[in-house]
Amino acid sequence: MMFRAFLIKFAEIGVKGNNRDLFEAALAQQIKYALRRCEGEFALRRTRGRIYIDALSDYDYDELVDSLRTVCGISGICPMVQAEDEGIEKLCGDVVSYVDSHYPDKHFTFKVNARRARKDYPLDSMEINALVGEKVLDAFPDIRVDVHKPDVLISIEIREKIYIYSIEIPGPGGMPVGTNGKAMLLLSGGIDSPVAGYMVAKRGVKIDAVYFHAPPYTSERAKQKVVDLARLVARYSGPVYLHVVNFTEIQLAIYEKCPHDELTIIMRRYMMRIAEAIAKETECLGLVTGESIGQVASQTMQSLAVTNEVCSLPVYRPCIGMDKQEIVAVAEKIGTYETSILPFEDCCTIFVAKHPVTRPNLNVIRRHEERLADCIGEMMQRALDTAEVIVAQV
Ligand code: ATP
Ligand code: MG
Repeated sequence: MMFRAFLIKFAEIGVKGNNRDLFEAALAQQIKYALRRCEGEFALRRTRGRIYIDALSDYDYDELVDSLRTVCGISGICPMVQAEDEGIEKLCGDVVSYVDSHYPDKHFTFKVNARRARKDYPLDSMEINALVGEKVLDAFPDIRVDVHKPDVLISIEIREKIYIYSIEIPGPGGMPVGTNGKAMLLLSGGIDSPVAGYMVAKRGVKIDAVYFHAPPYTSERAKQKVVDLARLVARYSGPVYLHVVNFTEIQLAIYEKCPHDELTIIMRRYMMRIAEAIAKETECLGLVTGESIGQVASQTMQSLAVTNEVCSLPVYRPCIGMDKQEIVAVAEKIGTYETSILPFEDCCTIFVAKHPVTRPNLNVIRRHEERLADCIGEMMQRALDTAEVIVAQV
């Protein structure tokens, strides 16, 4: 039996009233975006708090499921068998053949869970459960009923048609992108920042990104890696406008004029300033980084405070309380890990001191930044003016 339809489950409790409608419309739009990547023709139906996808042509099941699993807001994808309503006998037969074809090994416990959206159906849900359950038991002697913890929950929905399903493939959950404004992600080639972008996208936030490179100290391949990562994040977030900023001149100036143990922290402050300028110009409501407390010298509480000080927009750090293993687990799940560990240089690692400060003092840092006063304004403007925008999408 080939699945011709899918029930899309979504769950954000607390999304009510008008917002629920916006939530569903945004979800439908993101699903359409995901469907465009798949071979085949599909139709989307929204009825009373549910979203269905009908396959109108042949399609590749794995491709479709993979694609839907990137849609934020989807909590579950249920491939369904549809049948016409031709009476309870026919329904029982349909469920028996469903079980037969989808569960070759017939040793399991099950429960039937019928729901009537149409109250004119001649039997109520309890009666449907009992009748269908009995027929399944009759057909397969090794299957047993367990109403508390069944291995297989067979759901039946009585609507204009009858839907049978028992498989629920988990989606990312969260909220559809487009329901919560836009943020600017500082995207490096590392493991953490793509994860941070994904986590914010999962809360319904559209993502743009900024990458600082330092040619010729960082290569074209390092840049390509970041473009590839942006594309991987775009599977979840929709198209990402990636601003590639040339940071060489600023880095060299810092290197020349500031104490070397403060290079990273001062460099991070200029990155944040430039990212914020682009964010404000592009109507982003916040910045997002992959920082995590204590991961490196520039991410101690003192360093984060000094970095944060240059921003007026809120800075979101979704990885802040995670350790590396936890971040890696998410990176693997979303498919960015393999690309992130490719060994290309990053501008932060090139101009790095042997013993960077871990407890920077804001007044000291400010004083040292004054050494750049005669040139930095101009350099920042140049970095902004020459930024290249790449649209990363799948
Ligand atoms: P990642 O956090 O992505 O693994 P990383 O571990 O090398 O990179 P840091 O260099 O300490 O992290 O940077 C912390 C955060 O600053 C990154 O998560 C990212 O948000 C931002 N960042 C660092 N380097 C760059 C860069 N070259 N361009 C854009 N953002 C950057
Ligand atoms: Mg990091």
